[in-house]
Amino acid sequence: MATIPASANMPDTSPVDLPAGTTRQSRCRVDWITTVVIVGLHVGAVAAFFPPFLTWQAVLLTVVMQLICGLGVTVGYHRLLTHRSFRTFKPIEYFFSWLGSLNLQGGPIHWTATHRLHHQHSDQEQDPHTPRHGFFWAHMKWCLMFDPNFDPFHKYSQYARDLARDIGHRVIEHGMPISTLVMAAVLYWFGGWSFVMWGVCVRLVYVYHITWLVNSATHMWGYRNFETKDDSRNLWWVGLTAFGEGWHNNHHAWPRSARHGMKPWEFDISWVTIRAMQLLGLAYDIRLPGRGASMTG
Ligand SMILES: [Zn+2]
Ligand SMILES: [Zn+2]
Repeated sequence: MATIPASANMPDTSPVDLPAGTTRQSRCRVDWITTVVIVGLHVGAVAAFFPPFLTWQAVLLTVVMQLICGLGVTVGYHRLLTHRSFRTFKPIEYFFSWLGSLNLQGGPIHWTATHRLHHQHSDQEQDPHTPRHGFFWAHMKWCLMFDPNFDPFHKYSQYARDLARDIGHRVIEHGMPISTLVMAAVLYWFGGWSFVMWGVCVRLVYVYHITWLVNSATHMWGYRNFETKDDSRNLWWVGLTAFGEGWHNNHHAWPRSARHGMKPWEFDISWVTIRAMQLLGLAYDIRLPGRGASMTG
């Protein structure tokens, strides 16, 4: 199946009228609901390591859930919805969108909008999470804040009009808390509080920090294959734990490429997944770097 060269342009990105001369940092106030939820999940994740919650069944369940749900963020939210680096059939697109929502990182429209804003203003004033404002800000503080100029639906949806027009993604967006509660209820049904503490708290805290490291660490440490205008880096341990998302300098150089790992050792399980989908006839119009993809390293 033919592939399409990745262009530097983002799909359907229209600038929101953010006030010039300000940063998300300066406009924000604490989002107490999000903060309490995230702190509560961290407390639950620590408690999960003590009896009676710690069981091998719960640990195994968490590993399997992470392997499946994690792809909802990397293949679904990021490469499929945000960058449109490949296309698939609508039910599969919705499935990945829903899978992404089970990671409680915001609905597909908000996640996509935030990430397109990051690419449009990487490490500049309007970047929502650049480490130029400090590691802690880039890692997690930015998402504990509410930005009145971006976070209301009618503001951020301008950055993801393609998704906001789609009733399926809107249902997944607004149904995200219900999806999580239903998932927790199903886990309780099968394995009691042990499954809930591990399948929800431990898994979410793990996937939060792995995702956040892509925003913080891979804009600070690592090597560069491409001389991009931002601070993006390739960081091997984030590359492996974040399913290929840690080859972040490659990604900033070729944002629409479905493949992030480009050198032989840059293992990218999300690309392997997309390639497998392609072989099964479930992914098409896959975008890859063009002939101009010369590396500096
Ligand atoms: Zn980045
Ligand atoms: Zn991206």
